[in-house]
Amino acid sequence: MCAATSMPEPLAAPAPGVPLVEVRDLVKHYSAGTGFGSKSKTVVHALDGVSLALMPGETLGLVGESGCGKSTLARQILRLEEPTSGRVFFEGRDLLSLDKSELKAMRREMQVVFQDPYSSLNPRHTVGQIVAEPLIIHGLGNHREREERVDETLAEVGLRPEAKLRFPHEFSGGQRQRIGIARALILRPKLIIADEPISALDVSIQGQVLNLLKELQDKRGLTYLFIAHDLSVVRYLSDRIAVMYLGRIMESNGIKNFARPPLHPYTEALLSAAPVANPEAKPQRIVLAGDVPSPLAPPPGCRFHTRCHRIMGDICKEQEPELREIEPGHFAACHLLK
Ligand code: SF4
Repeated sequence: MCAATSMPEPLAAPAPGVPLVEVRDLVKHYSAGTGFGSKSKTVVHALDGVSLALMPGETLGLVGESGCGKSTLARQILRLEEPTSGRVFFEGRDLLSLDKSELKAMRREMQVVFQDPYSSLNPRHTVGQIVAEPLIIHGLGNHREREERVDETLAEVGLRPEAKLRFPHEFSGGQRQRIGIARALILRPKLIIADEPISALDVSIQGQVLNLLKELQDKRGLTYLFIAHDLSVVRYLSDRIAVMYLGRIMESNGIKNFARPPLHPYTEALLSAAPVANPEAKPQRIVLAGDVPSPLAPPPGCRFHTRCHRIMGDICKEQEPELREIEPGHFAACHLLK
């Protein structure tokens, strides 16, 4: 049995200007076997050249429809899967170059909050066992220290210490998500990837969980990659937003530009579909035609061209637009933006 090591505290901050997470030209293709009557292998283009950076303490909101590659990107950052090509850096260290023990140590710094608080908690374990599990996996602290850390962390997410003796089914959806957040928080990580953390919750509870995430960030200086399909939710919490479509980033934008109209036609369509608080306002909705094309065969040229309400002609169908900085801190990939 390996000896337990001391309880985790946040490590030193990275050097100024060094992103906590940086992804460079990341590609992830999955083999989907051979098609019926065909000898050639089909390939799912889940990510096709994604680059982004997350600075310490900031929240990057990652938005897009289902199947656009958001969760695949999260899995590559956590190195739960090996990318097809590209690099992932954490505090300047290349994650793909780490050996097993270095990777395990690095994983203490990055944790996940999952979408579904009903299926992500083991129903046979008590809340205390669930929340303490990461400490046990990493061999941290003795029994008493782990108990204290569990109590402290449950309090941070607004749960009483008695909660640790109960089972997940005894809690509401919002409380279960608090348990999921406590489990992510107990190792005192620097990065939390929140993968659609409120989409399975009642609307009345969603705001409470968002506020809790915000409070924890202010208190602990956490960095969030916040994945969602709802732009209005992401705007509430994020310092920057990146919009994904079919494995590519279409637009990325800093908080200073949130109030300004989006540059990319896809973001324009997503925003027009978001609910507006003012009943007098009559926003013009842009209805996207058809479904997202299959990642087995992304359209040539701009991969949004089959649904774009601003399509210009052959250039859109033939040439893939690069993600370019159109104005300071504001990037978009569209031929309209010269
Ligand atoms: Fe639409 Fe063309 Fe811009 Fe693509 S490049 S978003 S098809 S206008």
